[in-house]
Amino acid sequence: MSVFTPAYLGGVHALTSDPVVGTPELDRADIYTPGTEELTEGEIRVSILGSGLPWVTKSQAAGSVLVEVGNVQRDVFVLDLGAGSLANFSGLRVPVTSLKNVFLSHLHADHVADYLTLMGSYVKAGRLDPVEVWGGGSDDPALGLAEFVASIEKALAWDLESMRGSVATSGASATAYEVPYDRTEVIYERNGVTITSFPVIHILNGAVGYRVDYAGQSVVFSGDTRPTMTLVEAARGCDLLIHETFLPPETFAELMSFPLEKAIFVVNEAHTPPDAAAIVFGMVEPRMAAMWHCHVVEGYMDPVFEGVRAGYSGPVTLCQDLTVFNVTPGAVVTRQAAISLVQQATIGPSENEYTVDGEPHPNPGWWADATIDWQSMLA
Ligand SMILES: [Zn+2]
Ligand SMILES: [Zn+2]
Repeated sequence: MSVFTPAYLGGVHALTSDPVVGTPELDRADIYTPGTEELTEGEIRVSILGSGLPWVTKSQAAGSVLVEVGNVQRDVFVLDLGAGSLANFSGLRVPVTSLKNVFLSHLHADHVADYLTLMGSYVKAGRLDPVEVWGGGSDDPALGLAEFVASIEKALAWDLESMRGSVATSGASATAYEVPYDRTEVIYERNGVTITSFPVIHILNGAVGYRVDYAGQSVVFSGDTRPTMTLVEAARGCDLLIHETFLPPETFAELMSFPLEKAIFVVNEAHTPPDAAAIVFGMVEPRMAAMWHCHVVEGYMDPVFEGVRAGYSGPVTLCQDLTVFNVTPGAVVTRQAAISLVQQATIGPSENEYTVDGEPHPNPGWWADATIDWQSMLA
C-alpha cells in the first residue's frame, strides 16, 4: 500500500485499494473536476471536506463530510464542520446557498469550528436561507446542541449588527434539533432522503453518528467513536461507511511526540485504531469502507493499512481532504477532486429574496476627527 502518494506531495489519486467497486453506469474521468459532472438521479456524491484532526494543517482540514444527493431539489447535507473545511467546500463549486442542512456528530471544536464561518461569513457571501442544525442532546442541557447553537448566535452579535442596513441577513439564523443520544431514530425525512441518527461511544453522552438513505443507496458516518454496536446495527450492508480511524497508538505517539501511555488512552479509549476498524468493517460489510479522521503523513500510512488489512480484506480507502465517492446502484467510485485554490463562492437558488433590513449605524462621533479623507487627498 505504500505505493500511494498523498495529495500534499502531489498525488492525484485517492488512497484506495479499489478506485472502482462494481460496474459504473457512467464513464468517469480519473480525477474529479468540480462543475463537470451533474449528479444523476439515484446518486449520492460524498466529498471529504476535512479529514484531519484538531491541530489543523494545510494538508488536512478538521472533520467534515459533504453529502450531495441527485434528487430534484439537489439537497446538500454537511456532516460536521471542522476548521478549514469550508475552504475545501468553496473549491467544489457547490453553491453556498445550498448550505442549509448541518448535522453535527458531537461538539468537539474540531468538528464544529467552521459553523461560525458558515453563520457569519457565508451570509456575506450570499447565503440567504436560515440553517437547520441537528445534533445530540445531553443529560445536562448546557452541553446539548440547542445551547451550542444559541451561544454561537449570541457570539456573532457584533458580526450580525455590523451587517444591519447593508447586507441581507436572512441566512444568519439557525434552528436546532436535538436528536436522541441513547437510541437510534429516524430524524429527517424529506424529498426522498431519510437520515437516521444513532448513539456512539465517545467520551461523553451526546455523540451520535448518521446514516443517509436516498434511492436505495446509503452512506453511514461515524463521527468520533470507539467501535460501537449501535453503529454496526445501523450501518449493516450500507454502501459507504465512513468510520473514524486513528493511527495505532505507537505510531500516534511517535508522530505527535506524545508519551505512549497518553497515546494509548487517546486512541483506544476515545477512538478506533485500524485493527479495531477492521473488525467494524467486517461486521458491517459495506461496499466501500473509508477510514477518516486519520493523519495522512508520508511514513505513517503503512501502519494504518497494515492494521486494517490484518482483519479486513474488502475495499478500503484512507480519506484525505477532497476524496470523492460517487455512490450509485452499480458502483462506488473513489477519486480525488482537483480544485481551484482561488474559487470564490458560487451562488444558487434560495427560498429568500435578497432583502436588506434596518438602517446602517450612525458613525461614532470620534470617527469624524480620526478619518483620513483619502478621496479628497487623491482628487
Ligand atoms: Zn471528538
Ligand atoms: Zn474528532
